[in-house]
Amino acid sequence: MKAHEYQAKQLMAEFGVPVPRGSVAKTPAEARKIAADLGGKVVVKAQVHAGGRGKAGGIKVVSSPDEAEQAAKKLLGTRLVTHQTGPQGVPVNTVLVEEAINIKRELYLSIVIDGVAGLPVIMASEAGGMDIEEVARTTPEKILKAYIYPGQGVRTYLARKLAYGLNLAQEQMKAGTELIANLYKLFQAKDCSLAEINPLVVTADGRVLAADAKLNFDDNASYRQKAVEALRDIAQEDPLEVEAKSKGIENYIKLDGSIGCLVNGAGLAMAVLDLLKQEGGNAANFLDIGTINDPERVVQAIGIINSDPNVKAMLINIFGGMARTDVIAQGLVTAHKKMEIKVPVVVRLAGTNVAQGDKILDESGLKLIRASNFREAAQKAVAAAKKS
Ligand code: GDP
Ligand code: MN
Repeated sequence: MKAHEYQAKQLMAEFGVPVPRGSVAKTPAEARKIAADLGGKVVVKAQVHAGGRGKAGGIKVVSSPDEAEQAAKKLLGTRLVTHQTGPQGVPVNTVLVEEAINIKRELYLSIVIDGVAGLPVIMASEAGGMDIEEVARTTPEKILKAYIYPGQGVRTYLARKLAYGLNLAQEQMKAGTELIANLYKLFQAKDCSLAEINPLVVTADGRVLAADAKLNFDDNASYRQKAVEALRDIAQEDPLEVEAKSKGIENYIKLDGSIGCLVNGAGLAMAVLDLLKQEGGNAANFLDIGTINDPERVVQAIGIINSDPNVKAMLINIFGGMARTDVIAQGLVTAHKKMEIKVPVVVRLAGTNVAQGDKILDESGLKLIRASNFREAAQKAVAAAKKS
């Protein structure tokens, strides 16, 4: 789950990571009032779950309450398209109005889980700002890395090493090392998967501040992070993913291809994505239906895939172990009764109760494209998507 910048900054402030003064507005008039309270010179920032706002016109530096109102008016109610959003963009329903800071240096600081090392890693760079991806690509040596052993936390020497690496001046050293240690405390306490400050700025008057803030949270920890869950803004999320979740389908992830997939098991579902790609196609979604043995859940999953306008063909690939293939077959037949499925449907069933499953499909009279193995199913799905 993602948080907005303003929410991330509130949490950072609670944990002792300094942020600029500011407040959120949902109307231009509110933006004007906040700007006036902050002395007029402010930055108006679109609050969306995507980076790249600066380059997309979502960040406006203005010098009066009047201009702040105008900037808010231009942003609120629109959809912002950045290189991270896709062409449909994300809605701007809130802006953050902050004191404009006089930036001397733009640095980079983040913490993520390194899946290979199995540890959190702090990354820091002097080359912060809007092009960190480019820095990572072309001059990765400019990004310092420090692995953290969760039992130890951020040792003082490590925070100092990173702060030196950022070339902080002697008088900023204490603030810098505390900021790094405090960001890690937040990361750990809130079960983050990412905490990023880009840019971490040094101001003309020597302060070290988080000018931008991003926090992502590990959904596996949501059961013990009720306060974090309350930050969720579903307006920023994909509507089909929201619908899937509301129906208890936790494992649906929207992708940008044209073949809608219904698979059981996360490993098989991942393999389906790979095989479709090998065969020259692309999946429209990831969906692990799991071991549910409830035809109604199958109908709902098919309904979600069917309502995705990008889907040109459906691929149902089930290897039944605990899951029964006859339940899937029954769900597929019921789905055809309940909704109009216009796209071709490729089905491959194997494993538990496959004879019963095949019989249900054979007797259904439905025009399905059947496949007896995985590769054949992928090839048929790719061909069907290209044709329709
Ligand atoms: P992002 O593009 O979505 O990552 O949005 P950021 O919050 O990082 O803003 C993009 C850029 O706007 C930053 O790298 C800064 O250069 C600039 N910026 C943000 N806040 C301020 C500010 O208070 N004053 C000034 N002068 N520039 C700012
Ligand atoms: Mn940024």
